[in-house]
Amino acid sequence: MSVCTEDIMSELNKAFANKDWLGVKKLNSELAELEVRNKALVFNHKPEVIQIELTSKCNAQCVMCSHYYEFNDCGAEASDIALKELESLLPYCKLVLLNGYGEPFISKHFIQCLRLLNKYCVKAIVTTNLSILTDEMCELIPGVFDEINISCNGYSKDTYEKIHRGLRFDTFSNNLTKLVDVCGSAKLSLSCVVMVETVKWASDIIRFAYEQGIRKVRFGRLGVSSFIRNYDQDPTNFPNYVAYHLKAAKMLADEYQIEMIYPENYRMNIDQDALKDETRKVAAIKFRYDEKYQAELRDEFKLYHSQGTYGSVEQKLDSTDIACSGICDWVAKGLYIDTIGNMYTCCESKYLKYDNWNCRNAQSVRKEFFDGRLPDFCKNCPFIINNELKMLKCEKNPALYKANDVISVI
Ligand code: SF4
Ligand code: SF4
Repeated sequence: MSVCTEDIMSELNKAFANKDWLGVKKLNSELAELEVRNKALVFNHKPEVIQIELTSKCNAQCVMCSHYYEFNDCGAEASDIALKELESLLPYCKLVLLNGYGEPFISKHFIQCLRLLNKYCVKAIVTTNLSILTDEMCELIPGVFDEINISCNGYSKDTYEKIHRGLRFDTFSNNLTKLVDVCGSAKLSLSCVVMVETVKWASDIIRFAYEQGIRKVRFGRLGVSSFIRNYDQDPTNFPNYVAYHLKAAKMLADEYQIEMIYPENYRMNIDQDALKDETRKVAAIKFRYDEKYQAELRDEFKLYHSQGTYGSVEQKLDSTDIACSGICDWVAKGLYIDTIGNMYTCCESKYLKYDNWNCRNAQSVRKEFFDGRLPDFCKNCPFIINNELKMLKCEKNPALYKANDVISVI
């Protein structure tokens, strides 16, 4: 006998009335599977995975990030609306990602949010710069988190502080040792951005992870920005050079039995002549992120910001000619909530705002995927590039890997 949507919903409502949150999540999951299989555009299931931006402020100014020059001028804490929206969905939700544009451990809502997740039996994942780790956090963290990604783009005081401006390597490594003690290494991973100037440290970062007892390292793609003017440093312009260093790091990771995740476009065969040429070109790139450069960008930003001409690049729901099958996990089962309480498909789809879970935009995105067309805003998506989406298959097209600009100045 086949189970229909109405049967599952009736069971789900009973579980909800009994506050059986684990039962609600299980039934919501079954409903999601059924509705995605049926290619439904209107979903009765609720999001299983939610990403919430607890704060868009950060206590660092890393050189590849817009916090480098924004200094929290665009930052905010999550509003009551955002937190209420989150709480209303927690009974159905299995996993919450506590990340947005800022550093979640500095959010005034962080502890309150962990308690809320505990109440509704929800697990969490977070990415943090780990510059702050209080005793209260240490008490709650092991019970709530499934995974903690730790931003780490250097392996020593010199390399770390060169990239993570405003943070101290000593504090970071002390907190890392404390965190490994508190929750074991199984849930921890280091997260590093692939920059042409620093990819040569990839093996050193693997070695650092090994020494710290970390068993997973993720190298993600760099978001280029015409504002930071790092277009010429887009790693996809130096594929052989980047692949060479990442492959060396991967060999070391295998030796240390560290799981290393890295963009699949660098798993290519290396062309030795191109490698020499690219190595020469990279050597000529000046590491520009000194105080003078930062001050220049800061002044420029303040001007555009005061004129109201600074913002994220607007996205539309245009199709690409990149074929895909299945559906993105986020479109099928996920939701992103920013500090204001605005909802989007995922953290990469700003401006494709959802008025609600079944609004016109939400249905249009679902339809694009069900029709086998990859939306334009999904090009260079870190989840596709790192092969981390379970429900989506994409044609390996070079256009997929080219970095999109993220900041616009009108
Ligand atoms: S820690 Fe993360 S959010 Fe903060 S400045 Fe660095 S990259 Fe940006
Ligand atoms: S493929 Fe990436 S960018 Fe597109 S909806 Fe999914 S998570 Fe967002």
